[in-house]
Amino acid sequence: MSILFISDLHLSAQTPAITRRFFAFLEGEARAAGELYILGDLFEAWLGDDAIDDPGEPLAANVLAALRAFTEAGGRLGILPGNRDFLLGDDFARRAGAALLADPTLLNTASGPLLLAHGDALCTADGDYQQFRRQVRDPVWRHAFLRRPLQERRALAAGLREQSETVKRDKSSELMDVTDTATIELLRAYSLPTLIHGHTHRPAMHTLSVDGQIVERWVLADWTAARGEYVRYDAGRLSRHALD
Ligand code: MN
Repeated sequence: MSILFISDLHLSAQTPAITRRFFAFLEGEARAAGELYILGDLFEAWLGDDAIDDPGEPLAANVLAALRAFTEAGGRLGILPGNRDFLLGDDFARRAGAALLADPTLLNTASGPLLLAHGDALCTADGDYQQFRRQVRDPVWRHAFLRRPLQERRALAAGLREQSETVKRDKSSELMDVTDTATIELLRAYSLPTLIHGHTHRPAMHTLSVDGQIVERWVLADWTAARGEYVRYDAGRLSRHALD
């Protein structure tokens, strides 16, 4: 049994090729491994778990059914919401047969702990974004937003997305990357485990020296129409694998 990690598929009705690759991955590599963690931004947007039953947008229901098939076949599944799908909730997780994970989550494996995160909380050089993140992660904001009709939420989300794209264009790439300061602080709080995250779309393995110890930070790749990728954890070792 091995453990697989993916993130940043950004599934939407506009990218059916990515959805197809994900379904093939669930039935193939993920089922063979037996354990899968999705570390954020599975969906390009998520407006609330009631969207699953919206007949006008079948993607959510189709993805849910595919995840459900994976867990019913015995697969263990953990879902950690990202910044695009931060409203993924208990209802979706329960219906998928998945565990809804906090960000970050310490995963204790037979060969040691792994720290799982989406990655956006570590992009602390981007003060505007961190302020936005605090706002939308506030339970009061979340509750009020989810009480609005789905159509209204859809319009609001489109506005927010447009705003964020405009702001992003003016930001340097360094500003939108993970900072060493935030990473080291997080690693220390968890006694320096290996960190796995996504979000930045800059797949790499970084090594950091923290308090005289070498710590690895694995960044997952986003999926595109041309390729997908997963990271496998097997007998205490991480490795990267392409899907095309
Ligand atoms: Mn993200």
